[in-house]
Amino acid sequence: MNEPRLYIDGRFVDAHSPRTIDVINPATQEIIARVPHADATDVNAAVAAARRAFETAPWRDTTAQERGRILFRLAQVVRDNAARLAELETINNGKPIVESEFDIADVATCFEYYGGMATKIHGDVVPVPDNALSLALREPIGVCGQIIPWNYPLLMAAWKIAPAICAGCTVILKPAEQTPLTVLELARHFEAAGLPPGVVNIITGLGDTGAALTAHPDVDKIAFTGSAEVGKIIMRSAADTLKKISLELGGKSPNILFADADFEASVDGALFGLFINQGEVCSAGSRILVERSIYKKVVDAMVEKARGIRLGNGLDRATKMGPLVSREQLERVMAYQTVGKGEAKLALGGGRATGGELDRGLYCEPTIFYDVDNSARIAREEIFGPVAAVIPFEDEEDAIRIANDSDYGLAAAVWTRDIFRAMRTVKRLRAGIVWVNHMQPTFVEAPWGGYKQSGIGRELGKWGVEEYLHVKQVHINLNEAPIGWY
Ligand code: ADP
Ligand code: MG
Repeated sequence: MNEPRLYIDGRFVDAHSPRTIDVINPATQEIIARVPHADATDVNAAVAAARRAFETAPWRDTTAQERGRILFRLAQVVRDNAARLAELETINNGKPIVESEFDIADVATCFEYYGGMATKIHGDVVPVPDNALSLALREPIGVCGQIIPWNYPLLMAAWKIAPAICAGCTVILKPAEQTPLTVLELARHFEAAGLPPGVVNIITGLGDTGAALTAHPDVDKIAFTGSAEVGKIIMRSAADTLKKISLELGGKSPNILFADADFEASVDGALFGLFINQGEVCSAGSRILVERSIYKKVVDAMVEKARGIRLGNGLDRATKMGPLVSREQLERVMAYQTVGKGEAKLALGGGRATGGELDRGLYCEPTIFYDVDNSARIAREEIFGPVAAVIPFEDEEDAIRIANDSDYGLAAAVWTRDIFRAMRTVKRLRAGIVWVNHMQPTFVEAPWGGYKQSGIGRELGKWGVEEYLHVKQVHINLNEAPIGWY
């Protein structure tokens, strides 16, 4: 049995907490590891290590060039161990190995991108009217608590750790209790990559471990990716110590199919936009809005294609959809399938997927509901599983109205061959990410984050590092004479 420990101050240590968490492989429900459920004492130790590392040499004096080199070395470590990390990701999360391989490649790219950016963080010279030199310096925010979900375990860790190191911060990262294994595996290489002790600490635990981190008075910032529900709890808790926060929360993202779009491409995009990663994607295109004139044809084509999605153990290269991450998540999704049956018409799926090897795992049928009203619960609440709500619309105005009628605003997509319609729609959609004739491609260079209840702040690109930087105003008086006021 793999029994990883906490990674604090540059080494693996036993937890103070005697409690542990069983980590499972959702394809088989076998327990594959047992990790500590860190308590407040463990959190204190990790925060103390991160504070010490932030305030003292060598990290305090590490140059931007050196931080960049550390990130490049981390990227190399990820590439050198890509096969092992991808396999571990699939075993722990369930996703198809091909998707894990993409994720791990993105992890390396993310470290590289922020490695390059470390030497490009510039301040400003401000033209104040006095005889003075006014500067705006960029400085690291300090000790950052980072709390991440289970859907892209190592990639979410990279999205958090890379910009923080780039900025010169130190980190306590808490992976999701379901999927702690890949980031713990990566931590084994931190020292070789040149990360000084205490710069990145990894603590495993449940929600209360995250809550202790959020409430900790010596943590300067919390970066969170997860449910809107927990995002709100974190925002309230962070208020007590006025921490900076960045939140990347859920969505109910519309995928709008106009009749003039390439039919095959848009149907394919509707399926890819939702069923990739078992639908466990914050930006999943879970509301599929279809123009009335092609509505029936689209539903039929989606069903036809989705029927062929091959479910199975993610380690099998033929698998297109793996199990959901946990029993809790499967039950949650199944509850929504039941709700959906009372609210809309069911075209495909609608339950747990069973038969053969599927019986051992936590599989869910790709599910398509149609004639969904946008007021239905399956159109308003994030399901985080392979459940589509197909909604008809009359015209462009109607499509935009329905698309924007949501508490969320993470992502949206629009399929059309009419450039004017595309641009009009893009401008009016209230979402942080809008794709035209595609859905889900994500690039470390481009900003990521939500409008409305989908979050606060932006990750990735130059925007991502801003969240880890303070601005310091420096005023240098160039007059040698006294001020002369008194
Ligand atoms: P899910 O509902 O899919 O479990 P969550 O938003 O609950 O998604 O979990 C995302 C991350 O937030 C996980 O690492 C989880 O442990 C953590 N978490 C859960 N509850 C809290 C909390 N009250 N405070 C801080 N972190 C939390
Ligand atoms: Mg939870």
